[in-house]
Amino acid sequence: MKYLLLLLVALLIIWQLRSYRDREARKQPPPRGSAEQPIEMVACLHCGTHVAAAEAVQGRQGSYCSAEHRQRHET
Ligand SMILES: [Zn+2]
Repeated sequence: MKYLLLLLVALLIIWQLRSYRDREARKQPPPRGSAEQPIEMVACLHCGTHVAAAEAVQGRQGSYCSAEHRQRHET
């Protein structure tokens, strides 16, 4: 009878832990596949090299691959 009680307590603990873990997992948003999101590319006005829009250097006339090309093109 003593062992049965221990078993019950152990099962209860496992069940509690599992439901807690499920709640934690549900809180986090599903991971987004970065491969599905297209990266916007822009061409450098000076040399024509395509660079990611996030990494492009913005100038008065447009986007450049580097600050050096922006300087050369706009001055
Ligand atoms: Zn360039």
